[in-house]
Amino acid sequence: MNSAPLRLGARTHRFTESVIREMTRLANRYDAINLAQGFPDFSCPEPLKLAACEAIMANHNQYAPTWGDVGFRQAIAEKCQWYLGLSIDPDRNITVTCGSTEAMAATLQAVLDPGDEVILFEPFYENYGPDVILAGAVPRYVRMHPPHWSLDEAELRAAFNDKTRAIIINSPNNPTGKVYTAEELGLIAELCQQWNVLAITDEIYEHITYDGREHLSLATLPGMAARTVVINGLSKTYSVTGWRIGYVIAPADITALIRKVHDYLAIAAPTPFQKAGVAAMQLPRSYYFELGQLYREKRKRFLEILEASGVRTLPPQGAYYVFADIGDFGYHTDVEFSNYLVKEVGVAAVPGSSFFRRAEEGHRFVRFCFSKTEATLEAAAERLGKLRQTLRLAT
Ligand code: PLP
Repeated sequence: MNSAPLRLGARTHRFTESVIREMTRLANRYDAINLAQGFPDFSCPEPLKLAACEAIMANHNQYAPTWGDVGFRQAIAEKCQWYLGLSIDPDRNITVTCGSTEAMAATLQAVLDPGDEVILFEPFYENYGPDVILAGAVPRYVRMHPPHWSLDEAELRAAFNDKTRAIIINSPNNPTGKVYTAEELGLIAELCQQWNVLAITDEIYEHITYDGREHLSLATLPGMAARTVVINGLSKTYSVTGWRIGYVIAPADITALIRKVHDYLAIAAPTPFQKAGVAAMQLPRSYYFELGQLYREKRKRFLEILEASGVRTLPPQGAYYVFADIGDFGYHTDVEFSNYLVKEVGVAAVPGSSFFRRAEEGHRFVRFCFSKTEATLEAAAERLGKLRQTLRLAT
């Protein structure tokens, strides 16, 4: 008998479990309203449900083609043409994946070698660091500076070097709500070309912007189509986070690499939901207008709720989160505050520190998701009202 401890790889010790998913578990345990994890608690569009049911009843229940259902890829190409202005060949430039989460992991594993550096903006969506590490590469962080989460040109320039292989941009941004400006994207494009770096853009919130801001895809900037991988999916725009359908748009040579990795990671994405994805891509343009309207109303209502509760906020420019400042509540850390919130107030939020490398930088912040029904927001309003008392005690 060998009683020595098993020798296991060290890579997974370099990151922790997802705090966002942990907060959902806590929300369930304490019967709290879950404003932590980023998913809508309302219905997806009816045509998508019907198409998914029809696909199952029509026996589309076996493996889809590895690269993605032909009709779905065609529909994605058509939608990206009218919305983003990108001309895409569905046979050479699109890979359908298990959510944009797998799209990012497959892309990084396809393009990175050990020792390569990948630039990430901080605060970051918490998957990116582990994704880069699991691909054997090294994350290099560039700060977005509060309160407006602005970039410092000199800091960004200084992050690029001979080891830089890729940069990940998420706009509209989770958790800050930042929508990158044309100037910021222009600077990133210039640096990518100067240093021969690949841009990977997570555009999952592309249809959720506020105050007249418009989503701009980095791939459409001069010289960028050949060096940009666009990552997207059905989860947020069509309110189907459980379907796990994402897609990657990339130049043909990069697509070939991504498809290989995707094949060995997943074989294919779920067949009936890809069939239903055609219905999603073919929704009339008015759908996106109404979605924008819906989220504008939700943002307005939720900002009122937070203001009434004494939480300081900066209105997000896009996406469906508020990255709120809880510095006035007298808690030492965001984690203490979040624990109080979930156990005593009955609302789950995500501690800000999970979006930063150094926990102390996130101690003033928590992230709330407002992609919720009117009824959920009203229930949250009632509970969050208790916070005013806490504020009085602290000040
Ligand atoms: N990218 C960002 C920025 C997100 O906020 C999320 C989910 O919250 C994802 C990706 C995950 O998307 P998917 O459901 O397509 O895997």
